[in-house]
Amino acid sequence: MLFQLLRELEPYRAKLVAVSKTKPVEAIQVLYDEGQRIFGENRVQEIMEKAGRLPSDIQWHMIGHLQTNKIKYIAPFIHLIQSVDRPKLLHAIQAEAAKINRIIPILLQLHVAQEETKFGFSEEELMVFLNEEPPASFPNVAIQGVMAMASFTEDEKQIRREFAQVRATYGRIKTKYFQDNPEFSECSMGMSGDYQIALEEGATMVRIGSLLFGPRPCQITP
Ligand SMILES: *Cc1c(COP(=O)(O)O)cnc(C)c1O
Repeated sequence: MLFQLLRELEPYRAKLVAVSKTKPVEAIQVLYDEGQRIFGENRVQEIMEKAGRLPSDIQWHMIGHLQTNKIKYIAPFIHLIQSVDRPKLLHAIQAEAAKINRIIPILLQLHVAQEETKFGFSEEELMVFLNEEPPASFPNVAIQGVMAMASFTEDEKQIRREFAQVRATYGRIKTKYFQDNPEFSECSMGMSGDYQIALEEGATMVRIGSLLFGPRPCQITP
């Protein structure tokens, strides 16, 4: 499955995040041995346990809702925090990164889905926030793009609309606040069920779990 996926991503030059949440280190090691290096997790405790038992050149991505008091545990090694969904979290990441003299890469999470349970900024909220506090106010944070999840629905048109909206917002944010910053270049969208639509709508990074690792035990579907 890994190689088939990589072949599908190739024409789009999109990166693959293998979402390994709830899966054992042995399963991660298998993909690692096949060459995969980027893995996504949604719980701090789980990332830490796994990172301690797996090769140190794995690039760990945090993709789940993050509490400010837990940033310190992942700050030294996290490769990308994709789920920055509120100003307070960005401030807290800046503070922790400064303490250890690191620049932590992050993505700003956009809320485009219909479900209220999903997290993230609206475009409007993000514009207001970046106007008040431009990227330069966070010298220890590298804002590299946006991340989003589409609605949990069978309606392909709806999903496509939402991904197109993410890509459009990404473009407007880039033009307005990151004109001189080539680092702002990632649009992380698409999961096992909708990654093909995401690629067509401009994803630069997809986050795939169940397609690579099999279904998760008590999968919580929002
Ligand atoms: C679990 C998860 C994924 C992967 O979901 P699959 O449907 O298993 O591919 C992607 N992104 C986020 C934010 C997730 O929590």
